[in-house]
Amino acid sequence: MTPRISPERLQQGLEELARFGGRPDGGVDRLAGTPADLEARRWLAGRMGELGLEAALWLAGRMGELGLEAALDEVNNVFGHPPGGGPWLLLGSHTDTVPAGGRLDGAYGVIAALEAYRAVREAAHPAAARLALVSFHDEEGVSGHGFEGSEHFCASPSLTFVSGYLELHIEQGPRLEAEGKDLGVVDAIVGIDRYQVEIRGEANHAGTTPFSYRKDAGRTAARFIGHLRELVQGVDERMVANVGSLELEPGAPNQVPGRARFLVELRGPAAGLLASAGQVARDELQRLAAEEGCSVEVAAQSSWPAMAMFPGYVSALERVCARSGLAWARLASGAGHDAEILARHVPAAMLFVPSRRGISHSPLEYTDPRLLAQGCQALLEAALEVLGEG
Ligand SMILES: [Zn+2]
Repeated sequence: MTPRISPERLQQGLEELARFGGRPDGGVDRLAGTPADLEARRWLAGRMGELGLEAALWLAGRMGELGLEAALDEVNNVFGHPPGGGPWLLLGSHTDTVPAGGRLDGAYGVIAALEAYRAVREAAHPAAARLALVSFHDEEGVSGHGFEGSEHFCASPSLTFVSGYLELHIEQGPRLEAEGKDLGVVDAIVGIDRYQVEIRGEANHAGTTPFSYRKDAGRTAARFIGHLRELVQGVDERMVANVGSLELEPGAPNQVPGRARFLVELRGPAAGLLASAGQVARDELQRLAAEEGCSVEVAAQSSWPAMAMFPGYVSALERVCARSGLAWARLASGAGHDAEILARHVPAAMLFVPSRRGISHSPLEYTDPRLLAQGCQALLEAALEVLGEG
């Protein structure tokens, strides 16, 4: 018989973990490397130990780095595994938060993995010997771009004992809730391309220069930004884009902008789509600049690769969702996750539960306990499915 998770124990675990760095407003401050983060990780290692797992809390200081900053850079992955040498299917996420974060981002995936493991073990199911648990260090990127713990894990000998990785997470977007879905099967984690754009026109008197004589870099930028949504949606409806800040020079109300500078961020579930959207954006900027009597320079600033989830695991998750009788959807993750780091080395996939109003990285982060319990049970069943023990 399939083991059943306990919704009450899942809630209790989430509440206990939320005390580390807990805020009066219900949110959590548990930045990677802070005392609250380390206390939470020791607590977690203790819970894993109670379940008969050998839990290692790594405080692997880097050579040559001394003092407080180096201490914050230590790797604090909590990795719990059965005695012996694997291979294990790894379940988990991260327990660090952003400043004034919520109780579920990362924490849910770790506590749900703990509960799923507990249920499997209590049922004396043979899969208990083939599962391991993890909370990765600094997923949120307090220092650097994030994923420091999962990158360290993947470069360590521990990876050789891992057969694959499953991560349960809140969606952090509005789609599942809006579509009335209880579960989301993630088939890809988006890549992120950023372009630095500089439009050059001619600064001039904003009272005496008629519109038709202007070379207005600000107007060119505004036309592009106003049209960006349609541009990337024309490439693929799963693409999104953003311009988060815009710098105009000289920057006075009575001067026509001679220069406009901004970063365009593109997100999409496949490298080809990102490249197409980048080209479409460049072409449009050239066209608009020419129309407005301006010139434009576009430079690639950074590129973070899109990562497809392992097809065999995606299928296993879909079978579990279909059997559950719950409403579910397949979707790409618009946010980054440790799973994309693991996916470079071992089969990996993710399962989402809805986020109320799509809110995350906020004390207002919330998911109904019923949905959390369903997600946890689905994680357990997905693990058994992947292991061929379903
Ligand atoms: Zn997260």
